[in-house]
Amino acid sequence: MENHDLLPRRGYRGRLAPSPTGYLHIGHARTFWTAYKRAREAGGKLVMRMEDLDAQRSQPEYVDAAVEDLRWLGIRWDEGPDVGGRFGPYLQSQRHAVYLDAWKLLLRLGKIYPCRCSRKDIEAAVAAPHEGGSVAADEQDDEPIYPGTCRKYHRVVAQIAGSRARELEEPEGLSWRFTVPSSEIIEFEDLNLGRQRFVAGRDFGDFVVWRRDGVPSYQLACVVDDAAMQITEVVRGADLLKSTARQILLNRALGYVNPSWYHCKLLVDDSGKRLAKRHDALSLRALRDLGLKPDYIVSAEVPVEA
Ligand code: GLU
Repeated sequence: MENHDLLPRRGYRGRLAPSPTGYLHIGHARTFWTAYKRAREAGGKLVMRMEDLDAQRSQPEYVDAAVEDLRWLGIRWDEGPDVGGRFGPYLQSQRHAVYLDAWKLLLRLGKIYPCRCSRKDIEAAVAAPHEGGSVAADEQDDEPIYPGTCRKYHRVVAQIAGSRARELEEPEGLSWRFTVPSSEIIEFEDLNLGRQRFVAGRDFGDFVVWRRDGVPSYQLACVVDDAAMQITEVVRGADLLKSTARQILLNRALGYVNPSWYHCKLLVDDSGKRLAKRHDALSLRALRDLGLKPDYIVSAEVPVEA
């Protein structure tokens, strides 16, 4: 599952970033175990950060369950919501001000624009035959590639950047999108999967950095926190490879240094489908109730995506 040839950097800081929207399953366990092991082998630190920004889907019950399940598995962290640390708070729901500063910076730099499209509008535009060619759906993370309807506001925002942008203190109930440099190739070396290559505008479109419901998107919160918490290596599932490409663009815009990337192959079920939180039978809780031991869960041979 891992590549041991590539030694981690000195001063290693890794992180575990669960979303408390359901019980963790065996796939999360394997990824988090890898993150734990790499931090330990590097003699580094591990940070636990709770990604609980989605107020509708996040539940306090799942926050507690994630902490309990990961501890049961034998994973220990040096900083986190339950143990504190100098880079806290470690619950994203308590870090609004940090994200707002990043949003303001992106606005001043003219990198984002407001978007009024509803999910329905986007789906309709994507489904309809589109001027200038067809619009591909983003299969990897299920987000349709934004057709660019509100991109026209980009120029306006860029013009006011530095003047009225300074007065604009809040995202004002709109969603905001990052303008991706169309056709730019985003390449990076993944420490587990090797060279990765994505094309902005083709593999993913202008993505949301601030949501209409008043919270930053996963992409923005994640890069802001990884930078603020001085994370040197991000270990996560391969389902987030395209998100990494987006985050590389955000890091560049915000002047952050990229961490190293290590994506773990995803586990699949009997029919070859990726595991998801809905596979309740494979939740750590259920496996523990069945009497499975942590050692087995982290080391058993399990089918992974090709
Ligand atoms: N919170 C994200 C998830 O559970 C992971 C984010 C990340 O590792 O960057 O899918």
